[in-house]
Amino acid sequence: MENNDNLLMADDSTKKHKQDPGIHTTGKNNNDNRKKFTYSAWSFLIALLLVFIINYLLFTPHIQYANVDYSTFKSLINDGTIVQVAFDGDQYIGYSVTKSNAVDMLSEIARSRQIPLSLDTTAIVPYQTYMIDDPSFVPLLDEKGVEYYATEPPKPSVLASLISMLFPIIIFIVFYAWMSKKITGQAQGVMSFNQNKSQLVAEGETGIRFSDVAGEDEAKAELEEVVDFLKRPEKYTEMGAHIPKGVLLVGPPGTGKTLLAKAVAGEAGVPFFRMSGADFVEMFVGVGAARVRDLFKQAKEKSPCIIFIDEIDAIGRQRSSANIGGNDEREQTLNQLLVEMDGFDSRTGVIILAATNRPEILDPALLRPGRFDRQVLVDKPDLAGREAILRIHTKGMKLDESVDLRKIAQASAGLAGADLANIANEAALIAVREHHSSISQTDFENAIEKSIAGLERKSRVLDEKERTRVAYHETGHALTAFLTPGSSPVSKISIVPRGYGALGYTLQYPTEDRFLLSENELLGSVDVLLGGRAAEEVTFSDISTGASNDISRASDTVRQMITEYGMSERYRNMTLPKTKSGIEGVSGGKEYSEKTQEYIDNETSRLINERYNAVKANLEKNKEALEHIAQELLKKEVLEGDEFEALAKQYTVK
Ligand code: ADP
Ligand code: ZN
Ligand code: MG
Repeated sequence: MENNDNLLMADDSTKKHKQDPGIHTTGKNNNDNRKKFTYSAWSFLIALLLVFIINYLLFTPHIQYANVDYSTFKSLINDGTIVQVAFDGDQYIGYSVTKSNAVDMLSEIARSRQIPLSLDTTAIVPYQTYMIDDPSFVPLLDEKGVEYYATEPPKPSVLASLISMLFPIIIFIVFYAWMSKKITGQAQGVMSFNQNKSQLVAEGETGIRFSDVAGEDEAKAELEEVVDFLKRPEKYTEMGAHIPKGVLLVGPPGTGKTLLAKAVAGEAGVPFFRMSGADFVEMFVGVGAARVRDLFKQAKEKSPCIIFIDEIDAIGRQRSSANIGGNDEREQTLNQLLVEMDGFDSRTGVIILAATNRPEILDPALLRPGRFDRQVLVDKPDLAGREAILRIHTKGMKLDESVDLRKIAQASAGLAGADLANIANEAALIAVREHHSSISQTDFENAIEKSIAGLERKSRVLDEKERTRVAYHETGHALTAFLTPGSSPVSKISIVPRGYGALGYTLQYPTEDRFLLSENELLGSVDVLLGGRAAEEVTFSDISTGASNDISRASDTVRQMITEYGMSERYRNMTLPKTKSGIEGVSGGKEYSEKTQEYIDNETSRLINERYNAVKANLEKNKEALEHIAQELLKKEVLEGDEFEALAKQYTVK
């Protein structure tokens, strides 16, 4: 029972199904490692196979025998063919001429034909069979006068045994050296560096210009200066100005930070080294630092150029003082980055861009002068920005004349550029799915709804009692909004279940973008959030779990009003300082002193109670309206803003 009391809040829900860029790159990294693993596993197998083959070729004797079964062997003895038998382990070898004769004979033949001596000659192939526990065998040999003896188990020469022992070890040493050369080669070799890790995009090849980035005018203005540094460094150095070394792009996910960095390279027409922070964090200690070193070395050779470190938070995270769960590898990499940034002169024409959506976790050392001393905010776009972004992303699309991008922009407050690009694409997909000849405004509206509230899930069936409760709950939100002066108008109420556990929702579109909220407006938004549960209590004299999200948001708002906005009675006009106790990054450290925390809790509970009772009384008074609208909603499932307003006007009493 989500109440999107304005679309700014839809932010949360879109984040949920947006891929976290951090996670994404980590995943990619794992994949790399996996590849490396299978790769090394293969080489390992091949090496092992090689050992076996060579061992076999070198150390297994290659004498051909004629394999016969035991009875044949015995009959060969009986008919006098076999004249000599060697007991060799578990087998008998029978010679048709005595062994010494055979060798003599062979030598004779070899000499007369002038060929090298070979024991493999078929003429005297010995017979071979496996032993059977047969007490009559030796008597038979005695009887037939066959010469017999046991062979000494073959004693390989010392040299051979030494080689056979050392051989696998040698193979492994060679293999290991080769592997480790490969790994360090990846870290330090120029060739493999380009191939594997950083994408070196040649001049202007990003193909992206500032005109591809809509909105973000301030960020663009700052970055245009960077482009100018790169194009005409002498203009600045002559004037004695310091060219910034590092520019940090800061902003929520999907606002176009990566896009802007590419646009800078595209505009400046200089080489662009792009790496993701996660690329530096490897399983081998020291590799990350080596990569940083190499990256800077290459960049200096190619200057003027841009180094872009995307998602720098993967390496730039605050170094832990206590080293609990510390990551030595990451810290080494970060230290190397700091060293490199200090070690070069921006007059060399290398500018480092980095992007992050979590500037608060960056190590302060990174932000010191001479490092990323310039920060460019890439914020979520405003109304005009959103319209411009939509224009860019609908450029190649077939839109019909009903499409009003301004309206779509109005309805998508709080969404980032990536979300808007996604909406445009989604609208096109919907149009195709519904066999429209072009994309209509309705397709866009559906796309927005889909991206805000998750996929429409008509298939999910609520039982009648649940549906009724949801209908009254949502009507409670809407009616409270209607009755609260200054609250944004309700544009839609729905009890069609959606993804992410939302059973119904009430949408309020703000008429304009809001960056400032007054105390009364904040309280009004709390009222609207509480309206759902209050309506349930008024109607069913019982409340449900469906409001848990509403009340947690209401309490958050009130707590913020007390701690951050200075809107409480006792701490009017002051923020409450957080204590710095506990180890940073480890939960359990108290945020406020005990007394302050107690006050915050009491005041929050008092205020919420006060608001809730007022909202409940108001709904009580307007029970007729609540009843009518909820029943209408149950019938139609969705009420548009004007339908709702007409009913509300008809039945409410002020
Ligand atoms: P970030 O790096 O800030 O997370 P990206 O630069 O990766 O965001 O943006 C993702 C995509 O969203 C871009 O490729 C682009 O299609 C779209 N986009 C985001 N912001 C804008 C913008 N201001 N103008 C045009 N397109 C944008
Ligand atoms: Zn609700
Ligand atoms: Mg990015």
